[in-house]
Amino acid sequence: MTKVYLKRKIAPRIANGHPWVYGNETEKIVGEVRPGDIVEVYYWDQKFAGRGYINPQSQILVRLLTRKKEEINEAFFYNRIMEAWNYRRKTGYTENCRLVFGEADLLPALVIDKFNDYFVIQTLSMGMDVWKPTIVDTLEKIFSPKGIYERNDVPVRELEGLPMQKGFLSVPFDTNILINENGLKFYVDIENGQKTGYFLDQQDNRRAIQHIVKDAEVLGAFTYTGTFEIHAAHYGAKKVTGIDISENAVAQANRNAQLNGLDSICTFEAMNAFDVLKTWGKEKRQYDVVMLDPPAFTKSRENIEKALTGYKEINLRGMKLLRSGGFLVTSSCTNLVHPGLFLETIEAAARDAGKRIRQVCFNTQSADHPIVWGLENTNYLKFLIIEVSDR
Ligand code: SAH
Repeated sequence: MTKVYLKRKIAPRIANGHPWVYGNETEKIVGEVRPGDIVEVYYWDQKFAGRGYINPQSQILVRLLTRKKEEINEAFFYNRIMEAWNYRRKTGYTENCRLVFGEADLLPALVIDKFNDYFVIQTLSMGMDVWKPTIVDTLEKIFSPKGIYERNDVPVRELEGLPMQKGFLSVPFDTNILINENGLKFYVDIENGQKTGYFLDQQDNRRAIQHIVKDAEVLGAFTYTGTFEIHAAHYGAKKVTGIDISENAVAQANRNAQLNGLDSICTFEAMNAFDVLKTWGKEKRQYDVVMLDPPAFTKSRENIEKALTGYKEINLRGMKLLRSGGFLVTSSCTNLVHPGLFLETIEAAARDAGKRIRQVCFNTQSADHPIVWGLENTNYLKFLIIEVSDR
């Protein structure tokens, strides 16, 4: 097996559990380097660090799969996926959940979402993609699923030298799946929906709005399939307006509202939220609750400032649309904006808007996406509810 020797200075990070070795962090490589192969990693002093897969095309040269001298084979993947499933069972995420959350489940670059009897897979690196057939077999063994689908139409695959692709990994099935969440029904379009089709990471946070939306007039921006908005209507909101820039998302949101018999309360419109928040603010429209759940405004460190400007703008405008004593429900899903920075941005927005705010709750993603301390990309979702009052 090819051996990769690490530079002395990166030893603490790897020893503390971080699984990534960058190309410029190796002292030497002994043996052949074939993209996707399993290699052995050693510290500078010849001590064994672990086994993982290598890809010289990627910035991340090696991702460690194990710290033991164990064989990486079918049994390895079976055990890892079983461990991931046991964790979800123990924490109460069985029907719909992120079954495998990559590095946090010691399966770097692998994402598996479970929507009742259906599974959506992403293999986002060369070394993980090699094991796709094994992963599919494992799911068949453990779950006997009704269907498995791959959503590998993700640009990050190209950095690994992999094609973007999507399609069935089982016998074909109807890719519009019906799921239950918090007593509501939602269609999930796993073929053409965003990412894997549905944002499971907000499943608990959608329940967090339960009390504040009672009898309220609610505005939701960046609504996608209308999940937060339909929850608001379900929890007793008087009137709910949802905005998304995508016509397709709006069509799905309308369909979901109908499915739950809440279409007389919820209205969805395809518009740019930035324009809406600005114009409706000028028109002095007022709401009791404003909900914002934008996409990641940045994926690179260089654009953090721009992203913060975006977050500040929408939150400031959102606050201005609230009646005094109303609630702002606001999220950010990029790990590059850490929780402290997000809260500072909200505070700055409140200051500029001349509002007094009180924190109602501050959460992260649901526990089926566990956060591993020291692995900063696992700590990505910020979900905040604040009460906003005139000074
Ligand atoms: N709240 C949703 C997830 C939202 S994902 C849920 O819980 O499932 C972010 C959404 O923002 C996407 O649907 C995307 O189409 C939409 N979006 C992106 N830019 C936008 C813009 N400028 N105005 C309105 N919607 C936008």
